[in-house]
Amino acid sequence: MLTQEIKEMASDIRDKLIETRRALHMQPELAFEEIKTSRLIAEYLKQINIETTEGVAKTGVVGLIRGSKPGKTLAIRADMDALPITEENCCDYKSTIDGKMHACGHDAHITCLLGAAEILNNLKDRLSGNIKLIFQPAEEGVGGALPMIEEGVMENPKVDACIAAHVWPEVPAGKIAVKHGAIMASPDDFEIIIKGKGGHGAMPHAVIDPIVIGCQVVNALQTIASRKVNPLKPVVISVCSFHSGTCTNVIPDTAVIKGTARTLDRDLRNSIAGLIEEIIAGIVHSMGGEYEFNFKYLYPPTINDTTITDLLVHSTSKVIGQENVLWAEDPSMGGEDFAFFAEKAPSTFFRLGCGNVAKGLVYPIHNARFDVDEDCITVGASVFAQFAVDYLSEEM
Ligand SMILES: [Zn+2]
Ligand SMILES: [Zn+2]
Repeated sequence: MLTQEIKEMASDIRDKLIETRRALHMQPELAFEEIKTSRLIAEYLKQINIETTEGVAKTGVVGLIRGSKPGKTLAIRADMDALPITEENCCDYKSTIDGKMHACGHDAHITCLLGAAEILNNLKDRLSGNIKLIFQPAEEGVGGALPMIEEGVMENPKVDACIAAHVWPEVPAGKIAVKHGAIMASPDDFEIIIKGKGGHGAMPHAVIDPIVIGCQVVNALQTIASRKVNPLKPVVISVCSFHSGTCTNVIPDTAVIKGTARTLDRDLRNSIAGLIEEIIAGIVHSMGGEYEFNFKYLYPPTINDTTITDLLVHSTSKVIGQENVLWAEDPSMGGEDFAFFAEKAPSTFFRLGCGNVAKGLVYPIHNARFDVDEDCITVGASVFAQFAVDYLSEEM
């Protein structure tokens, strides 16, 4: 009965949601600059009389729906920021800002959560417990989740479980994909400065060449995945930047190497920096150089709780049909700062299908031609709403 109401409400607000998503799409804002975005979110929530707090972790917005009876609290999170990409689509809701684009679909995430908020607010007289609506800034690299948690978003009322979604063009619109356990990796960064002794390119015996040392380090780093770590536990170490020297006949003093180290396992993650430094120290010292090594821990791996994920499968099957709930075969080695919420409370992070080959919506996220099939918005809104209703009424 409730499921039918949720579906009807989602379809009633469909046009409003698409209009909202397009407005967001046209005014993309980067991490911690989501001023207009947060204003739009707050206005939407206030218009439907939802208790709203602005300015959480600078540009974040938090809404709270209190059910008529006490109970558990579920948090639903949407990220808000855009990317520094110039959009190459020619739709009439194209980004109006050169060099900025919602190329990761966070405009759709915001809209799904606004839709769920409106549906759940209409049902609040029949709910026991609360729904916290977390609109989080700065997912792309900078990280808005942790500052929101530090400002107390998981307390008052204390959050018992969390859920979030990411649009996924490889999954057709109308479907979602779920997974137990690890779904996203830890995307940590490192920087290595190799310090040698520069000199004339004609006299290599009189110098300590940081480029030759650096090349050995880059190659040897690949033995971490192939020879140091259990092959059944994924690890990616990619050197993505190597800068040194300025001309053809001068051996430089230093070389700077930068890259990313990723895993799906919390313990393994804690050992990676040590394994990298062991290799650097061995090679650099054996060749007479010095080094500086900086490892930056960004986000933990995102680990889905089995019980919460199973409940999501159950809820989603009711609202979009069991045939539209897929099990994701593999996690992604991409990162996601929803991981911080998932460390605080049992959580699940699912993939919201947004692809449509017939409509030409086939481009990957972070591509200048990425766009979503907007059918995914009412799907996301009704999945969130149904899950919230089921979670709050379930004994767990
Ligand atoms: Zn992204
Ligand atoms: Zn994203």
